[in-house]
Amino acid sequence: MQKLTGKGVSGAIAIGQASVFQRRDARVTRVKITDIAAEKERFEAAKAEAIAELDAIYQKALREVGESGAQIFEIHSMMLEDDDYNESICGLIESQAVNAEYAVAVTADNFAEMFAAMDDSYMQARAADVRDISNRLINCLSGRKQAGASGDSMILCADDLAPSETVSLDKSRVLAFVTTHGSSNSHTAILARNMNIPAVIGVDGLLTSVKDGDMMIVNGCTGEIIINPDEATLDDAREKQRADQEKRQLLQNLRGKDNVTLDGRSVNIYANIGSVDNIGEVLANDAGGIGLFRSEFLYLESDDYPDEEQQFRVYKKVLESMAGKKVIIRTLDIGADKQADYFGLAKEENPALGMRAIRICLTRPEIFRTQLRALYRASAYGNLGIMFPMITSTDEVEEILRICKDVRQELEDAGIEYADRTELGIMVETPAAAIISDRLAPLVDFFSVGTNDLTQYTLACDRQNPALERFCDTHHEAVLRLIEFAAKNAHANNAWIGICGELAADTSLTEAFLRMGIDELSVSPSSVLKLRDAVRKLDLSK
Ligand code: PEP
Ligand code: MG
Repeated sequence: MQKLTGKGVSGAIAIGQASVFQRRDARVTRVKITDIAAEKERFEAAKAEAIAELDAIYQKALREVGESGAQIFEIHSMMLEDDDYNESICGLIESQAVNAEYAVAVTADNFAEMFAAMDDSYMQARAADVRDISNRLINCLSGRKQAGASGDSMILCADDLAPSETVSLDKSRVLAFVTTHGSSNSHTAILARNMNIPAVIGVDGLLTSVKDGDMMIVNGCTGEIIINPDEATLDDAREKQRADQEKRQLLQNLRGKDNVTLDGRSVNIYANIGSVDNIGEVLANDAGGIGLFRSEFLYLESDDYPDEEQQFRVYKKVLESMAGKKVIIRTLDIGADKQADYFGLAKEENPALGMRAIRICLTRPEIFRTQLRALYRASAYGNLGIMFPMITSTDEVEEILRICKDVRQELEDAGIEYADRTELGIMVETPAAAIISDRLAPLVDFFSVGTNDLTQYTLACDRQNPALERFCDTHHEAVLRLIEFAAKNAHANNAWIGICGELAADTSLTEAFLRMGIDELSVSPSSVLKLRDAVRKLDLSK
């Protein structure tokens, strides 16, 4: 039995077997071989295995997201059969007497560079595909399983997880995440909370202590990890798990109740989601709406730009599932830690201060317009609000409003239905937006404060860097003053204001937020009832 500690970032206790995450682009070493024919056979067998895997993924995607979303996996299968690709790999094995993994890696580099250098943006995006199929082949060759490849539920252990890796996992089988790196406000931690999966980050020595199949207890509240516990410890953990579930059960009594303080002040409590898969949790926890749908995860789950039809289907499903309740969808917030290779974004010295979110949308309007068309088309199926991330100026908002108007006109001209009214809002997540909130508020229907970024930009603390957690005071007066200032300016201009960053779930601030006049708090689905409980115990008259 071995105990380790990290930082608990998503509640509850999980008990299960460890699965060590193998990063898909693990380094490949060059090995001299003697039996060329056997190496080529090994390559052929791995290729057959990769094609069978892709076929299974294609079938799953077909069921879950339909033909257009599944198509990419069929293309990947075809790419694996491509003559030039195969000739290059076999040629390297023969001419240099090297291992198949190395031949695949070299071919992947050559082909990816060739695609990246083409003028056509469709062909450029194929660079990411060739890397993807080659990583799959290398994993098959080296017998490395990808995360979640085995059949059972598991506790996922990794050095770190990128948001794109997290969204690709089969969530129904992940009992908990444990990572060596990561920070509380990283998107991986946020995703864990949204999916209601226990998570512990910053566990030193994790990967040298744990191996596949080890029994583990993970406490997402205290950050304690126990590897191969003895029977007594295991019993104790099961007991705590039961008590925890009972507490959650008690909160269920608050379903259907109002979010109203003892003195009668009410507030909307909405939920944050990253995927349609989270809707079940939203409904189970009786959220009044969706305050933040991080639409970029749709892009991160994909190997290519999701087209209008694919996006429309997802947004429509969310709106219909919420049956007339408010659904606020944020336009894509790609960039910084949320990278999708096919966007071909340049490497940046300071990606959090770089080409991300609305800056990408205004630089590449064709991507933005596709999303807006899908959003407006879906607006006919429910109560949609659209909000825009990383705003810093009135010029940006005016440009966005012009594009939205254009898109609506386009739909109208084509006789395509959309809602009479869709609220438009902006995220207040830069100090600039808060400071000029008096000028921004008249342009929009609502503000939603993104405290995760507002805190990082106000305190100059990279939210991805766990070493800075002690300098990153989430209750810092500067951040709270900016929120209060934005609330005052929103109300003075007939706009409403919500908070959708992680701070919204911090019940030690609920009273302060209500006193500032915050109209809506949007939190991970599993925090909705806890927050309702806190609101119902407050008395603002005192
Ligand atoms: C925020 O910055 O607070 C926010 C809600 O957006 P994200 O965490 O996705 O950057
Ligand atoms: Mg943000």
